[in-house]
Amino acid sequence: MPNPIDIEAICAERGLRITEQRRVIAKVLSESTDHPDVEKLHERASAIDPGISIATVYRTVRLFEEAGILDRHDFGDGRARYEASPEAHHDHLIDVETGKVVEFVDPELESLQRQIAEKLGFRLVDHRMELYGVRLDRD
Ligand SMILES: [Zn+2]
Repeated sequence: MPNPIDIEAICAERGLRITEQRRVIAKVLSESTDHPDVEKLHERASAIDPGISIATVYRTVRLFEEAGILDRHDFGDGRARYEASPEAHHDHLIDVETGKVVEFVDPELESLQRQIAEKLGFRLVDHRMELYGVRLDRD
């Protein structure tokens, strides 16, 4: 995502009480561009405040997720991964060998999905698209 999202400001807007530990976790999430899982978030947050437990990180991401501040993803490895809810929609391509996540937007794909929904009698309100691949230039 190009612009770091100010989760703390969004919390304030939505009336979520922001503690010092939540503030640290919000900052780490805002600055992460790699869709980290809870362990990785805990690693980064406890580097700033060693008093932050993994249980606190779990509770906080659940709270942020319920408030619509975070998106949770499952990229096929069974671990929940998080990113600050982007202002502009994007989809994900996952490198199955390295786990690296590439973000992309394709207007043709977006329009095709709307057309498919309409053909089936729906107005599209949301979708999730995850592509899984191996790099062509890898050998
Ligand atoms: Zn993303």
